[in-house]
Amino acid sequence: MGKCKDITRLLSDALDRRLTAGEWLAIGVHLPTCSGCRNFRKQIAQLRDASREISGTDRETPEEPRS
Ligand SMILES: [Zn+2]
Repeated sequence: MGKCKDITRLLSDALDRRLTAGEWLAIGVHLPTCSGCRNFRKQIAQLRDASREISGTDRETPEEPRS
């Protein structure tokens, strides 16, 4: 079972790298049982969205192709 320290670490790592299936599994098992880590995930998701707005770029969905 993942500990909060490990889970929050993985959640922030997920912003920078791909997590393994096992890591996602640890998160998926832990989050439903822990409101603290759910809140943490919500917070970093908001931070990520905010930083995307600031940078003005979205890697996943480019706004328009250059042609
Ligand atoms: Zn937790």
